[in-house]
Amino acid sequence: MNLKRTIIAAVVFCVFFGFAFSAVIEDTPGMMRVLLLEAPSVKIISLSGCFSVVKPDGHTDEFLEETEFKAEGDFISFKDNKASGILKLSSPSYMQVNGKPYRGDIFILSEKPGYLLVINKLKTDEYLYGVVGGEMPASWHIEALKAQSVAARTYAASMKRTPRHASFDVFSTVKDQIYAGVEGESPSVIEAVNATSGEILVFNDSPISAFFHSNCAGRTSPGDNVFESGDLPYLASASCPYCAPSEWTYSIKRDELSKLLNDKKIISGDLLDIKIDKTDDSGRAVSLKIIASNGVTTVKAADFRLALGADKQKSTKYSLVSTPMDGAEKKVFLLSVKICLPSNDSDNETSTLVDEKVVQADTMLQAQMEKESLEHLAGILAASRLPVSIASIKSEISEIDVSSAFTFSGSGWGHGVGMCQWGAYGFAKNGWDYRKILYNYYPGTNLTKASF
Ligand SMILES: [Zn+2]
Repeated sequence: MNLKRTIIAAVVFCVFFGFAFSAVIEDTPGMMRVLLLEAPSVKIISLSGCFSVVKPDGHTDEFLEETEFKAEGDFISFKDNKASGILKLSSPSYMQVNGKPYRGDIFILSEKPGYLLVINKLKTDEYLYGVVGGEMPASWHIEALKAQSVAARTYAASMKRTPRHASFDVFSTVKDQIYAGVEGESPSVIEAVNATSGEILVFNDSPISAFFHSNCAGRTSPGDNVFESGDLPYLASASCPYCAPSEWTYSIKRDELSKLLNDKKIISGDLLDIKIDKTDDSGRAVSLKIIASNGVTTVKAADFRLALGADKQKSTKYSLVSTPMDGAEKKVFLLSVKICLPSNDSDNETSTLVDEKVVQADTMLQAQMEKESLEHLAGILAASRLPVSIASIKSEISEIDVSSAFTFSGSGWGHGVGMCQWGAYGFAKNGWDYRKILYNYYPGTNLTKASF
């Protein structure tokens, strides 16, 4: 009798407290958990028939009409109900979330007071039906759509390993992949996803970081120029002969850019000039030197692009023209001081930049005086670091033309890493299948069927 009571008590405890303590939407193999929105309220209706709501206590209610779910403190209120924890909404047909239809189940979770998390849990391929069409036009060649499907599935597989949250794997926005639900679906996309079902790209048995972009303008960029990806061999620069030309120009006034760079804390002080510091073999800027009144900052070209807006400066493949200011401004000089170590090959002297200083001076003479004091400091530094007998100090003075505006003239669209979508489209039209396309952009990877 006592044993029976204990079992009943244990079951009751698990039903009531188990839900309360494990308020997490379970990760299930073969399914994705996608955050649709975080909002104070959401309206749900089933497209045909009713939908059911399973409450945290296990009790189920049926609803025929559109129902609003609202956050009330830590609780979720809907019709005459109030619950805390997770609600599971299911329907034999699609459910509309704020007017947009979705496959699978909808979960509503109250995590912080006043806000609901609305999460769509559905089969991975059904999730991809709503992703691929948002990333590539559904009218494109089927082999390009298949390549995009594999890239998107590989991304999903890697996110399942490192989910965004205990209750969801991915966002439905550009933070991850844009997921539009049923509205994003089309027959060609469904065909491409089904034809490649389960296939992902792996490197050393792990899903790769399958970056992709719109248009590389002829050659893709090595991954480590853009992301902190380390030296991943499959993100090497790849040739892309079928990219459609995509040229752009973007101009910005110095005052405006100066404010923007200060707001983003990339510089502090007045922006004077920008120079391309380093380019890679694909012709992209890797780093920029930003000369401001209080010093020189080197910034990654990819970060600079995001600061300006990725839709404005469309790629990092550009030339830069500065428009000089009209009229006589105060002269600005850039002093660079290097410690040099002589080598046997006189053309290949190794040097270390120890200081760069921006000097606003009326005359060259003033700049020369600054230079001498800087050289003196560098000499002291060299003596403390290196055997003085073999170190020499070199310095340069260059006059900076303070610019009134900067014009970037570029080609391509996107960060340039991984698969180029316009290039994939071109390869597909020229008879390549999706495997060959993927191996071109992600060299050294393997296509494999995986369950995740
Ligand atoms: Zn390309």
